[in-house]
Amino acid sequence: MTDRFDVVVVGAGSAGSVLADALTRGGTRTVLLLEQGPGWPDDAVRSLQRLPIGSGEPHATPVPEASGLPVVRGRGLGGSSAVNGAYFLRRHRDDFDDWPAGWDLDTVEAAYAELDGPHGRMSASPFGDDELGDTAIAFESFWRTRIPVRPPGDPWPIVGLNRVVSNRRDGLRMTSAEAFLRPAIGRPGLTVRTGVTVGEVLVVDGRVTGVRTASGDIACGEVILCAGTLGTAGILLRSGGLSVPRTLGVGEHREILVGYRRRQETSAADLPALLQSVVHTESGVEIRCYSDDFGRYIGGVSGRRPVIGVCGMRPAGTGQVFLDDTGEVRLHLDDPERVVLQTLSAIADDVRDMLASSEFAGIVESGSIMIDPTVGTSQHAWGTMPMGVATDGAGVVDGVRGLRIVDGSILPGDGRSGPHATTMMVAYRVGETLA
Ligand SMILES: Cc1cc2nc3c(=O)[nH]c(=O)nc-3n(C[C@H](O)[C@H](O)[C@H](O)COP(=O)(O)OP(=O)(O)OC[C@H]3O[C@@H](n4cnc5c(N)ncnc54)[C@H](O)[C@@H]3O)c2cc1C
Repeated sequence: MTDRFDVVVVGAGSAGSVLADALTRGGTRTVLLLEQGPGWPDDAVRSLQRLPIGSGEPHATPVPEASGLPVVRGRGLGGSSAVNGAYFLRRHRDDFDDWPAGWDLDTVEAAYAELDGPHGRMSASPFGDDELGDTAIAFESFWRTRIPVRPPGDPWPIVGLNRVVSNRRDGLRMTSAEAFLRPAIGRPGLTVRTGVTVGEVLVVDGRVTGVRTASGDIACGEVILCAGTLGTAGILLRSGGLSVPRTLGVGEHREILVGYRRRQETSAADLPALLQSVVHTESGVEIRCYSDDFGRYIGGVSGRRPVIGVCGMRPAGTGQVFLDDTGEVRLHLDDPERVVLQTLSAIADDVRDMLASSEFAGIVESGSIMIDPTVGTSQHAWGTMPMGVATDGAGVVDGVRGLRIVDGSILPGDGRSGPHATTMMVAYRVGETLA
C-alpha cells in the first residue's frame, strides 16, 4: 500500500460530499474522497430542463437490472444529486416513528432545516407560482378544491396537495457537491480523486484496513461507504471478511403512468422543471404531476407521451440486490402485491378523471388518456443496510471495526416522499457527530 489516510470516503454523491465537508472542517484528519465518475458537472448537466441520464451521458451509470426495467445512477462529483429530478421533499413526520434511537423528531427537524431551511445549504424552496408550467397549474387548481393544501411556509409535507420543494439556483440543480464539497476543496486534510472505482474493502481480523482499487490498495483507519445503495451493496458483497448476506433486501417506489397527448407542445425554452406538484394520499400513494413527456428531458427516449405518475410510497415495493456471475451488482424488483396494484389502479382511475376534467381541457387532447399497465421504478432504491437493523443509528456496520455506511443504504422503513432530502439529512446529522 502506498497511501495512508485517516478516513477513506467512497463516493462523492449526495451523502459523500456532505461527509467530506464534515470530516475535514476541523483540520484534524486526513480524508481521501474517491469517486468513480468524472469531476464537476457543467451547467448543461445541471439544468432543470434536462435529466442527463440517457445512454452515453458522462454523469450517469446504467445498472444491470434483472426485472427488465432501465435503472441508472448518477456519477461524478455530486453523484445522483447532479442528475436527479431536484425534488427535495422531506419524509412525513410519522415516517420517523420506527427510526432507531437518536433520531427523534427534533433532531431530524434540525438536520433537515440545515438543508432546506431559509439559509439551508441546498438552496431549496417550493417552486414559486411564476415557475409553474401549465400542467402543474391545472393539477393544483383541480386538487385545491378537493383535498387539504400544504400551507406555504410549512416545511413538512402533508396528506394532500404539496407544492414540490426543489434544490436549485438560477435554473440549475444545487448538487450536494456544490453545496458541501466545493467549499471544502483546498483544505489541507482533503484529497479528492475522481475516476477511481473501489472494488472492495480490505478486512483483517475483523477490522477494515483499507480499500482496493484497480490502481492499488489504499490504507486507512476507517472506511465510510457513500457509494449509493447499489454501489455500496456491490462493495460490501465483493469484500471478504464481512458477515453480509449474499442477497440484500431493498426498497423501491413502484409507479404506473397515466399518459395523454397534449393539444399543443410547450416550447423547449419554456420547459419547466420535471416535477413541480404532487398529491400524497391517505393510502400512501404519491400522484406526480410530471410537466411533460420524459422524452423531452432524457436523450434517447422517444415515442412516449406526457404522463402523470401514480407511485406506491408506503408500503413501498421490495426487491433484492446481489452480484451476478461477473461480480457486477444487480437489482431485482419483486412484482408488487395484488393489494398494492389495486390501490395504484384505483388512484390511476382518479387521475384519468382529473385529466378529463375542465381544468385540463386546454391541455389534454380529448380521447387520448391511457393508463399504462407497466409497473415502473422511481430510481430510488434504498434500505439494504438499514439503521437499527444491519447498522447502528450512525451507520456503523455490525460485526466489523472501522466500517460505516452513510448513504441511501441505511434509510430505515418506507417514506411517503422521495429519498433525496432524507439521505442528505442523515448524512448531515451523522457528519456533524463526527466533525
Ligand atoms: C435519475 C434519478 C432521479 C431521481 N430523482 C429524485 C428526486 O427528484 N427526488 C428524490 O428525492 N430522489 C430522487 N432520486 C434518488 C436520489 O437522487 C438518491 O436517493 C440520492 O441521490 C442517493 O444519494 P447517495 O449518496 O446514496 O448516492 P449517490 O448520490 O448516487 O452517490 C453515490 C456516488 O458513489 C459513486 N460510486 C458508486 N460506486 C462506487 C465505487 N465502487 N467506487 C467509487 N465511487 C463509487 C457514484 O459514482 C456516485 O457518485 C433520483 C435518482 C435518480 C438516479
